[in-house]
Amino acid sequence: MGVPSVFLRTFGCNFTCDGFGMSRGERSNERNLIAENAESFKSYQLLPLVSTGCDSYASWDPRFKHLSPLLDVDTIANTICDILPHGYWQDEHLVITGGEPLLGWQRSYPDLLNHPKMSGLKEITFETNGTQELSQDFKHYLGEWTAEEWDREITFSVSAKLPASGEKWEEAICPKIVCEYEKRGTVYLKLVVSTADDILDAERAVKEFRAAGFKGHVYLMPVGGVESVYTLNAKNVALAAMNRGWRYSDRLQVPLFKNEWGT
Ligand code: SF4
Repeated sequence: MGVPSVFLRTFGCNFTCDGFGMSRGERSNERNLIAENAESFKSYQLLPLVSTGCDSYASWDPRFKHLSPLLDVDTIANTICDILPHGYWQDEHLVITGGEPLLGWQRSYPDLLNHPKMSGLKEITFETNGTQELSQDFKHYLGEWTAEEWDREITFSVSAKLPASGEKWEEAICPKIVCEYEKRGTVYLKLVVSTADDILDAERAVKEFRAAGFKGHVYLMPVGGVESVYTLNAKNVALAAMNRGWRYSDRLQVPLFKNEWGT
């Protein structure tokens, strides 16, 4: 939080997470209602925020695909550098998010990261749901990208999906896959919770990750893409994290920018 970062958002996800903000077993319909007029939205910024379900729904729901054009590597690298305050990398991080950024996109990152305009980049974070294995080729590439002489770092911010997301435990909690990430960079778990049941699920998940050998930090983060929901449970989530010796992660984009698209 607070680190100047460029977010590269890839399209597509293997989940839908329609359970967020809903009672157990219920699924949000907010996204579907917005999608009825999907074509009328001409940019991400015009899309409504949702208070239930995945708050980045337009980055994977095919009905919003027209907002995510397929860009070539040159265009992406140039666009990123146009955003950087000096036009080239200094202290900024690149956060690759989604959707789920470790789907087939793994094949495209080497071309992007080898682009001359990306040469000053020192730190990359993948914001992943922790279900996708790294391909042999990509593991090899990441090993080279972080070779000692380059002084570069990779972080995997793993937001493993608890049952509150509506996803199935056996598909969403993948400790072996996440432990593999630890061989390629720093890894932490970021578990999104709101109720006491969610916190019990978080305890169970952490137990499974630790049993598989996971060594990284654990963060709890309050549910809430909109401020009214977020402020309701932030303090309880912080206390739950403190009581377990875990860390707390805020959602800085909610109070600062009201979680607008693009923030
Ligand atoms: S894994 Fe993330 S991007 Fe995919 S549906 Fe769930 S919250 Fe949204």
